[in-house]
Amino acid sequence: MKIKDLSQKINALKKKRNAIILAHNYQLPEVQEVADFRGDSLELSRLAAKTKADVIVFCGVHFMAETASILCPDKIVIMPEINATCPMANMLTAIELKRLKTEYPKAVVVGYVNTSAEVKAQLDICCTSTNAVNVIKALKAKEIIFVPDKYLADYVSKQTKRKIIIWNGFCPTHIKILPEDIKREKKFHPFAKVMVHPECLPEVVALADYVCSTSQMCKIAKESKEREFIVGTEVGIIYRLKEDNPQKEFYPASERAVCPNMKRITQEKILWALEELKEEVRVPEEIRKLAKKAIERMLQII
Ligand code: SF4
Repeated sequence: MKIKDLSQKINALKKKRNAIILAHNYQLPEVQEVADFRGDSLELSRLAAKTKADVIVFCGVHFMAETASILCPDKIVIMPEINATCPMANMLTAIELKRLKTEYPKAVVVGYVNTSAEVKAQLDICCTSTNAVNVIKALKAKEIIFVPDKYLADYVSKQTKRKIIIWNGFCPTHIKILPEDIKREKKFHPFAKVMVHPECLPEVVALADYVCSTSQMCKIAKESKEREFIVGTEVGIIYRLKEDNPQKEFYPASERAVCPNMKRITQEKILWALEELKEEVRVPEEIRKLAKKAIERMLQII
């Protein structure tokens, strides 16, 4: 079947099911093309919470669909590829976090949204790459645990001048972007501004003009007078940046920064998910209530 026929079928079925399709900024162009909304994990979860649709087709990785389900348990949240998980989120289990908490019983536990629902249920407060610095600034506690990304923790610690107890997690995609990639691209494009995600290595972050989440990258690209950008994050965002700003140029810092899990969803899988209403992601109620508290505390701060 041609992609055009597929997208027509998807749109027809979407109406019949009263469904919306949410796609993360790192998804394949063919997925972004059929999405009702694109964004980062928090933006998409907030949209999920507001929608009047009965079915949410979440095109991203597992913890994102879980977060949507935590915020809107009355909706059917389905993933076109249930095996698309985030390796960083998988680097910390609920048992491991329990152990860490017993080592630092007085610490406030802050967790990146890239965590499982079971881990979120044990957090004091959740954060995203957009608001991590503000969340830490708002805390009065002397001891702070930050999980699971050690590079985001390093960035936040430097920005807030707070000492943070870290977990040894990282994003296998963002660490592929090296300082020499930024320097090389700067030579090719001397007038370009450098935007990088805080999941990148500290040596890469040190070379950036802007350190920001993907939603902030989209905003900066739109609002800035600059015309050229070197982009240090997963390459999928380049498609959206170019589409939103056809008069500007965007250069990936490294073509190697590809998240294989984000690329597992295709239009064929979306069609199948809508036909079968599968695979559903639902968080057990006890865990959901606790995880929701950690997310709500974050929403009160930002
Ligand atoms: S890009 Fe990194 S943090 Fe994002 S889903 Fe892939 S592995 Fe996880």
